[in-house]
Amino acid sequence: MTGRTHDLAAFTALTYTVATQPLQEMSLATAIVAFSANMIGGLAPDIDQPTGALWNRVRGGKIASRFITPFLGGHRFISHSILGIFLFGFVVGKFLEVSSSVLIVEMDVVWWAFMIGFVSHLVMDTFNKEGVPWLFPIPIRIGIPPLKFFRLKTGGLLEKSFVFPALLMANIYMYFIHYSKILDFLRNYIK
Ligand SMILES: [Zn+2]
Repeated sequence: MTGRTHDLAAFTALTYTVATQPLQEMSLATAIVAFSANMIGGLAPDIDQPTGALWNRVRGGKIASRFITPFLGGHRFISHSILGIFLFGFVVGKFLEVSSSVLIVEMDVVWWAFMIGFVSHLVMDTFNKEGVPWLFPIPIRIGIPPLKFFRLKTGGLLEKSFVFPALLMANIYMYFIHYSKILDFLRNYIK
């Protein structure tokens, strides 16, 4: 999947969470930081490849990627697994803990937003031709559907003409169905 599709998938997962989970009060700063964390989380697993969308979006990312990518073992490796979810969850949690002294936002909300984006990335990649090594270090790549032939090619026609519009439709549908709850959240829960 392309960075754009991952952004939208992360956002879709976040919308779904707001629409279906009990609402929580948060500051505007928290909401903004959480939204950004969700987008970063949606791209984070691809920091294992120098062409990852996140590297292109940060200054000096190209250079930094050369030092960091080798540690992650190549593309679609540890960062694309259940173990990776725990590892990134732990590291990001520690990072947020340290940042909490300078950044006054509700860190648990930010952490969850990041993780929702992160997991959405792995789910989306599972539909890709290459599959995802969910059970790393067990070297099996899992894909949906199981037959590789039917899976998607990154940036391919099917992704652009079907997956991306389908995600957009899913958002529109959720806003339509949970309209009053989402409005309630935006109006009364963000202080
Ligand atoms: Zn990926």
